[in-house]
Amino acid sequence: MGNFADFHARSINDRDAFWAEHAKRVEWKVQPKQICDYSNPPFAKWFVGGETNLCHNAVDRHLAERADQPALIFVSTETDTEKTYTYRELHAEVQRMAAILQDQGVVKGDRVLIYMPMIAEAAFAMLACVRLGAIHSVVFGGFASHSLATRIEDASPKVIISADAGSRGGKVVPYKPLLDDAIKLSAHKPAKVIMVDRQLAAFTPVAGRDLDYATERAKHMDAVVPCEWVESTHPSYTLYTSGTTGKPKGVQRDTGGYTVALAASMPHVFEGKPGGTFFCTSDIGWVVGHSYIIYGPLIGGMATILYEGLPIRPDGGIWWSLVEKYKVNVMFSAPTAIRVLKKQDPALLTKYDLSSLQALFLAGEPLDEPTAKWISEGLNGKAIIDNYWQTETGWPILSICNGVEKAPSKFGSPGKAIYGYNVKLVDDQTGEELTGANQKGVLTIEGPLPPGNLQTIWGDDARFVKTYWKTVPNKLVYSTFDWAVRDEDGYFFILGRTDDVINVAGHRLGTREIEESISSHPNVAEVAVVGVADQLKGQVAMAFAIAKDTSGLTDAAARLKLEGEVMKVVDSQLGAVARPSRVFFVSALPKTRSGKLLRRAIQAVAEGRDPGDLTTMDDPAALQQIMELVKA
Ligand code: AMP
Repeated sequence: MGNFADFHARSINDRDAFWAEHAKRVEWKVQPKQICDYSNPPFAKWFVGGETNLCHNAVDRHLAERADQPALIFVSTETDTEKTYTYRELHAEVQRMAAILQDQGVVKGDRVLIYMPMIAEAAFAMLACVRLGAIHSVVFGGFASHSLATRIEDASPKVIISADAGSRGGKVVPYKPLLDDAIKLSAHKPAKVIMVDRQLAAFTPVAGRDLDYATERAKHMDAVVPCEWVESTHPSYTLYTSGTTGKPKGVQRDTGGYTVALAASMPHVFEGKPGGTFFCTSDIGWVVGHSYIIYGPLIGGMATILYEGLPIRPDGGIWWSLVEKYKVNVMFSAPTAIRVLKKQDPALLTKYDLSSLQALFLAGEPLDEPTAKWISEGLNGKAIIDNYWQTETGWPILSICNGVEKAPSKFGSPGKAIYGYNVKLVDDQTGEELTGANQKGVLTIEGPLPPGNLQTIWGDDARFVKTYWKTVPNKLVYSTFDWAVRDEDGYFFILGRTDDVINVAGHRLGTREIEESISSHPNVAEVAVVGVADQLKGQVAMAFAIAKDTSGLTDAAARLKLEGEVMKVVDSQLGAVARPSRVFFVSALPKTRSGKLLRRAIQAVAEGRDPGDLTTMDDPAALQQIMELVKA
């Protein structure tokens, strides 16, 4: 055990020596010549001159020592499937998938888009891409055709890997029709689509474009596809995320820095040990799924559970039964899931033997105190560790790092800045650093961002600089777009976003994207979407719209009908995750005299709070109307 303060200080003050040490956790074909090149801020290049491969570090390197140890444990309570792949078997499956991609001409630098449910083949696909040096872009299966189309267009993949369907709560969710629509909508067309046919939803393959995975796999049972050694700075993947503007951003990750960051996080943040089992309940469509369902645990030589299903089916004890069965050591979930479990019989928490479990990590959204207390008591005092991070960072920014030094958690706080992160709270107006205790500021990170963080936005360096580094006056610092305070002990508390991003059940959504989708309904003239506090999901989207033609909206039934239509538009374009909880029809929206939407005021009254200073408001009646509608 060390001293966390010293460990952190060294990561900042003696940066290169610190990370050079951690680089030894990774196998390199060619050792790095320079640890960090920050000659062109804010672009950081990590482990320059080094050559490695993410798949090699996640799979191949373990074959010597742990070929017959479980690597990937696929559990679907939707299809009643459980299958364990050893490292040897995973290695074989990944090579088969890689051979299929090679047949389609996929080479280093090509993009491959993965639109898949939570099945083992999704893991094979991701690992096969990085094995070849191809850049994967996983799109969350809950996104619908419009969201998918924008991502296909931006990533311009040579190949898409998908499946006939997912399943949720026993209900089949077809993927293929959404994918076909998305390809139609997109200006870019993939040359081939590889379809994993789970036989859940019948579909007609597109002749000349769609290939059947099982047929292709059968041709490559003995495939030997060596890892392509790539430069440390070679992109491993892009992952799209929402921001203030409508167009999602492709967060681009490198190879070497990401591998080192994850390798170091396993012992220091998660205390995961080779041979142990990691169970992350996220989805491969999110950053947490990339880092801690797939890459982190495998790099760390652990077995990882990939789970398709709900936390409460067949009952609310399912996850704990998996902890018992697979002797899970480290579990990672989201506060929303725990709030769902909180509604179940508490006896389910004590029904199973959870003695293997060391800690439960929770991330993606604020962890409220009642939920934290409930789970902490239910798990009999096991460590409950709140993690704060973003798609952009790839691994946590704030956490307790028990692997470095045991430290107590504080309810409502994700802990301290992790090693490598030079976190500063700054005044949003002046850019001045706030060093006093309990001062509210924007949480920023001074460059260079540590290994594993985004390199840039895919295809748009200028947007990367403008979006993240130019928002704080007089300073080149990375903005997280989160408000925070730090207490006298250095523990941070996150207070919400500074931009128009909302967080629904841990899913990050841009209100502008939802507004654009709603506006495409022929009878919507204007709309404002805000995030409103919700007991279960943390936040939900709520929409206030002005109809173009109000003549038919004379009664509640007509308004409900239009509301239903608008929700369907969002469902079909963006997916159910983005569907607003309510769409209210109003005659005007509160704006400033210069015509700027007063979202903060709308959000405040929608949550029953005081809207604050309204001196710049043009038409106070508009806000009054919203207040009355929400109250009713
Ligand atoms: P995403 O990129 O989807 O992971 O969303 C990142 C955003 O989620 C952050 O900028 C925060 O607003 C929020 N977030 C993530 N983790 C936490 C946490 N532990 N506590 C509070 N907010 C969080």
